[in-house]
Amino acid sequence: MKFGGTSVGSVESLLNVKRIVEAQQGSVIVVVSALGGVTNQLIEMTRLASAHDAGYEPLLAAVRQRHMDVIEQVVPAARQHQARQVVEQFVDGNLASFFSMLCLNADLDEPERRRLADTIVCHGEILSSAIVASMLDDAAPYYSPSFIKTRPDDAGKPVLDAALTERLIVQVLGSCGHERVVLQGFIAQDAVTGQATTLGRGGSDYTAALVAAALDADSLEIWTDVDGFYDSDPRRNADAVLIPEMTYAEAQRLCDAGAKVIYPPTIAPVASKGIAVWVKNTFHPQAPGTVIR
Ligand code: ASP
Ligand code: MG
Repeated sequence: MKFGGTSVGSVESLLNVKRIVEAQQGSVIVVVSALGGVTNQLIEMTRLASAHDAGYEPLLAAVRQRHMDVIEQVVPAARQHQARQVVEQFVDGNLASFFSMLCLNADLDEPERRRLADTIVCHGEILSSAIVASMLDDAAPYYSPSFIKTRPDDAGKPVLDAALTERLIVQVLGSCGHERVVLQGFIAQDAVTGQATTLGRGGSDYTAALVAAALDADSLEIWTDVDGFYDSDPRRNADAVLIPEMTYAEAQRLCDAGAKVIYPPTIAPVASKGIAVWVKNTFHPQAPGTVIR
């Protein structure tokens, strides 16, 4: 079950996530995006700090406060202290020092700056997954860069090492013995250097598909903020009609044509295993959604 940024972005939606996951019979792996808007904010703060503009500081304080507020309202009291410590470690510790390195250091070279930026952008999912793992009862947190591995392509852009990733997913999660696992979408690691990398913007769907495919999951559920795929954009066209069912090829065509419902690389891994993909609305969980198979 993958929950996108809006699904983990507010108290109301997080409480829906808790209900949806805890109602699930059998074992489930929960993959989360950063709280809605946080990835953009991390990128914006990186831009400011790189330009030696301390204007990132109030933004970082607001991001910190948002995570603390959510913890107070969704995490059971007994686990709040631990969840707050995660925010302290990753925001007050890591992020504050990475941004001040960028801001105060005039002679960082471009590769160093890029490495810091990549490390920073991964923190949105690290924080959201810690909150979701402590919100849910009996959930075991895992760190997806320990099995989602990339290698640089000829232009230096990270691309998935599919074979290594599949092997590591099976090794780490295949026999982990936990009924309920929570892990980060989007974030990855260079297979050789261990440097933080990502699967690209919107890549949490892809993480979930890779895990579902490697483990031969019964299904992949993409929980988002729309009821499913429509025949046209429902935000612009009031007569848009929900598509209840489609093939992998039809879904791939819609994604490639710019339907924002699913990140395009998501379809191939699950299609190759014949795993059904359900697109469901976290804000309207009883709606049937779209099934792709
Ligand atoms: N948080 C990342 C992004 O905003 C990944 C994702 O949400 O799928 O692109
Ligand atoms: Mg998305």
